[in-house]
Amino acid sequence: MRYPKDLAVWEYAPGRKLAQIVFSLKNVKGALAQVSTAVSESDINMLSGFESATSASKVGTWSFFADITDARDDVESLRKKLLAVPVVVGVEILLAEDGFMVDTQHFPVRFSNRRALILRTDALSEMVSHMWSVFGSGAATIIDQMAESMGRYTAQEMIEDFGKEFVVNALEEVLQTYSALGYADIGIVRRESSESVSVHARELFECEANARNNLRRKSIFFRGHLRGFMSAIFQADFEVTEVQCRAEGDDACTFLVARVESIVPRMPLSSEEKA
Ligand SMILES: [Zn+2]
Repeated sequence: MRYPKDLAVWEYAPGRKLAQIVFSLKNVKGALAQVSTAVSESDINMLSGFESATSASKVGTWSFFADITDARDDVESLRKKLLAVPVVVGVEILLAEDGFMVDTQHFPVRFSNRRALILRTDALSEMVSHMWSVFGSGAATIIDQMAESMGRYTAQEMIEDFGKEFVVNALEEVLQTYSALGYADIGIVRRESSESVSVHARELFECEANARNNLRRKSIFFRGHLRGFMSAIFQADFEVTEVQCRAEGDDACTFLVARVESIVPRMPLSSEEKA
């Protein structure tokens, strides 16, 4: 079972009075409980949001969009009331009267302390599709190379963050990052004491788009990314073969990932060496 991860980029509720409420909170036990009690006492309906409080920081952030149409207090009284909660360090309340509100309070977007960018999969698939229509099958090479370098770079970042040995030992968990980032719902089978893995990808964004558009076209982006990622982790050449694909009517996509065995051809001995 996976739960969807909805990123709070904007809120749209025509006819409702919306707010975005951003708290700086002391990073202590029970902080969220204290604040959420104060918020719900004001008859505010909390909508999508997020919290961030790393173990190392003394102050965390809790932000959410809220429907304040039926709120008991006006904004100034609400602000005072929330500031009076002992764990609250600061609070910002922004309003939208027209039922539409974009998150203007958070930048940069990060994950694992590095700048990140949120893309919608259909927009990315459209870009890939457009490249096909302009460059034909040559687009595959361009996309494959772009994805491979992206995979390699991602692996290098992970090695910098966690160390190579850790990444190799935790490979199954590390590859789950593809699920956490929304590429596909990933399942990993690692062959014991081997660098080969099978990656089962349900709902892989690019093959889902191809299946929807009746294109019998296997993955290019994910396959290239995975090859680059594994090659950089193990500092060796890897090959990735997609043996099942949604775009070809299978339930999910399955990729076999294996190190390329270097084949050194046996040269016949010359007459001088024989002697
Ligand atoms: Zn596929």
